Amino acid sequence: MVIYADNAATTKMSATAVHTMLSVMENNYGNPSSLYSIGQKARETLEEAREEIAGVIGANPAEIFFTSGGSEADNQAIRSAAELGRKNGKNHIVSTAFEHHAVLHTLRKLEKEGFQVTLLDVHSDGLVRPEEVEKAIREDTCLVTVMYANNEIGTIQPIRKIGAICRKHGVLFHTDAVQAVGHLPIDVVQDQVDLLSASAHKFHGPKGVGFLYARKGVRLSSLIEGGAQEQGKRAGTENVPGIAAMAAALKEAAEGMERNTAVMTEKRDRLIRGLKGIPHSALNGDEKQRLPGNVNFCFEGIEGESLLLLLDDKGIQASSGSACTSGSLDPSHVLLAIGRVHDVAHGSLRLSIGEDTTDADIDEMITGVTQVVTYLRSFSPIWRDLVSGKKAFILP
Ligand SMILES: *Cc1c(COP(=O)(O)O)cnc(C)c1O
Repeated sequence: MVIYADNAATTKMSATAVHTMLSVMENNYGNPSSLYSIGQKARETLEEAREEIAGVIGANPAEIFFTSGGSEADNQAIRSAAELGRKNGKNHIVSTAFEHHAVLHTLRKLEKEGFQVTLLDVHSDGLVRPEEVEKAIREDTCLVTVMYANNEIGTIQPIRKIGAICRKHGVLFHTDAVQAVGHLPIDVVQDQVDLLSASAHKFHGPKGVGFLYARKGVRLSSLIEGGAQEQGKRAGTENVPGIAAMAAALKEAAEGMERNTAVMTEKRDRLIRGLKGIPHSALNGDEKQRLPGNVNFCFEGIEGESLLLLLDDKGIQASSGSACTSGSLDPSHVLLAIGRVHDVAHGSLRLSIGEDTTDADIDEMITGVTQVVTYLRSFSPIWRDLVSGKKAFILP
C-alpha cells in the first residue's frame, strides 16, 4: 500500500477534473479563436472557466489570464510590475528570502538587468512581519512580492496586512498563491492584491496550466509573443481541456474547503503531535498559522535523503523540501531562511497530507518515520558524536 504524502509537490487529479478534461478533449476540440460554431463552443467553455475561477477569488473574469502554470504566472507578474516600474523610474523590489524559485530566480535575473532587490528575512516561526515590509518600501519601490503560503513549511503569511501597506504606499503587490488557492479562502479585493499566481495541479487539477490574476488597471507585459489570445498578453492557442479541468477542480475545492480544512487540520495536528515524540526533533514553521495539509520537521543527526528513500520502502511518499531542490545536496533555502543551521536543515522531512489521507495513514506515518529515524541514527557518526557529548545537540 502506498501513502501519498507529497501533496505540496503535486496533487492527484480529482475524478471531476479528469472527466471534464476528457470530455472537452473528445467533444469540444475547436480552437477558441475560430469563428465557426465548433470554435465558438470552445470559446464558451473557456469563458465559463474564466468566470468560475474569477468567482472563487473575488475577481472579475477580465482580470484572469491563463498561463502554463504557477512558474509562468510568477514570471509574468514580476516582469510586468518591473517593466511598469522602470517606466516610472522605479527599480526597487521587496520580497522575502523564502519565496519559490520561480520568484527568486526571476528577481535574480532582474538584478542583473539593473533592479535592486531587498529580500526580507523570515522569522523563526516562518512568518513575514508586515511592519518590516513597510520599512523596506522606498521612494523607488515598484513591487512587493510575498508568497501567500510557503510550499515547504506551509506557513500562511499576513497577506491582508501587507496588501493594505502596499496600497497605502502606492506600490504594486504580487502574491504567489500557488499553495493557497483551492486550500484557503481568498478574496483579492479584501486582500488588496494587485497580482496573484495560481497553479491547477496544486488543487487536484491538471499539470501545465494555471492562471495569473491582474487587477484591472495593472498592465501586464507578455512573456510570449504571437497571437492576440488572453487580451494580447499571452499568445498561443489556449489549453481548453486543461483550463476547463482547472475550473472544475477549483470549484470542487472551493465547495469542499470548509469541510476539508476541518478534517485535514485535525489529522495534521495528530501527525505533528506524533512526530514530536521523536527526541531531538522540531516542527518547522508556526504550528497554527499553517496550511491544513502541511507538516515539516527536522530530525537532528540524520540526513533527509536517506530518510526519504527508507520511507519510500515502507510505501510512504514524502519530500525533504520542495521537489525542485531534491536532487541537490544543498539544504533547503527556506529552512536556512528561518534560521535552521545546515546540519539540522539537512535532516528535514515534509509530509503534505491530502483530503483522502486517513487516520490509519497518519498512524502508519508516525510509526514509519519514528522507526526510520531511530534506525538511521543507530549508525550515524553525527548522532554518535551528539550522544557521546562530543558535539552539542541543537534541537531539544
Ligand atoms: C508549485 C509551485 C510553483 C510552481 O508552479 P508550477 O505550476 O509547477 O509551475 C510556484 N510557487 C509555489 C509556491 C509552488 O508551490
